[in-house]
Amino acid sequence: MLGQLGEDAKLLAGGQSLIPLMKLRFANPRHLVDLNFIAGTAYVKDDDGVLRLGAMTRHAEIESSSVASKIPILHDCAAGIADVQVRNRGTIGGSLAEADPSGDWGTVLMALPTQVRCLGSSGERAIPLGEFIKDAYTTALGHDELLTEVVVSKPPKGSGGAYIAFKRSAPVYPTASAAVQLIMEDDVCKQAAIALGCVGLAPIRAGDAEAALRGQRIGEKQIATAMDATQAAVDPQSDMRGSADYKRTLVGALVKRAIDIAMRRARGEQVEVSHIYA
Ligand SMILES: Cc1cc2nc3c(=O)[nH]c(=O)nc-3n(C[C@H](O)[C@H](O)[C@H](O)COP(=O)(O)OP(=O)(O)OC[C@H]3O[C@@H](n4cnc5c(N)ncnc54)[C@H](O)[C@@H]3O)c2cc1C
Repeated sequence: MLGQLGEDAKLLAGGQSLIPLMKLRFANPRHLVDLNFIAGTAYVKDDDGVLRLGAMTRHAEIESSSVASKIPILHDCAAGIADVQVRNRGTIGGSLAEADPSGDWGTVLMALPTQVRCLGSSGERAIPLGEFIKDAYTTALGHDELLTEVVVSKPPKGSGGAYIAFKRSAPVYPTASAAVQLIMEDDVCKQAAIALGCVGLAPIRAGDAEAALRGQRIGEKQIATAMDATQAAVDPQSDMRGSADYKRTLVGALVKRAIDIAMRRARGEQVEVSHIYA
């Protein structure tokens, strides 16, 4: 249908980004192609070392999925997006396709090995998430292409992660957010992934902050170095949610908290994470 209707057609998933944009007249498609009637596109499956999430899986379905909770940062994310109405309609596929720099899923999935499967008139392809999100509101999707599935590799034993967003209230996007995923072995950090949200035009991987933890027994000194490196990696804009300086300080503090929870979870502790409200 996208091929037949041309550039004036848009896909409709949960409508939680597209419909508000249409109401504001920022988007004005002549045709909507509704994905909601296609059976078998909403699922969370555990499949030989990976989790597969269908594009039309709602945030609420991921929040309540025992399969998704095997990777706790997926649950942290899904449970904290907006309010229950938005979570009941909004989809993981729509969120990634929207590539809103304030969206939660891009940041969380950037901290995990994630591939996005896409389908179009010229066939199927799998794209690493880091290459799928090109810029603010810009992805690698062609016009007649849709995102079908998100594939996340399951972290090995001894891993722990945490995702924390700081928000003014539930139904608004975060001011800043941080996702941390660690692989620990005998108290030494073997691998670290740190992704930051709302502090640039796309989610940012903080490579120098990750390097400050890798190969180390994580203590106050390593965390302080990681916080400094985080603050150097971001490029926030001043807006109604806060000044650039405020967001830079905030994201460092979120990384500190997320590292602490990730380490506790890696040790097998059950730690509930909820977003922080101003
Ligand atoms: C009040 C409010 C608060 C919100 N707060 C947050 C928040 O805190 N954090 C957060 O992450 N999000 C938030 N959202 C956004 C919400 O998560 C949306 O669900 C999400 O951004 C878009 O998903 P959707 O399924 O609603 O997509 P839609 O709005 O239906 O579509 C969004 C875009 O993606 C395209 N699209 C949809 N599905 C596909 C697909 N499978 N393949 C290719 N293109 C596709 C559409 O054509 C459209 O351009 C909020 C929304 C509202 C209304």
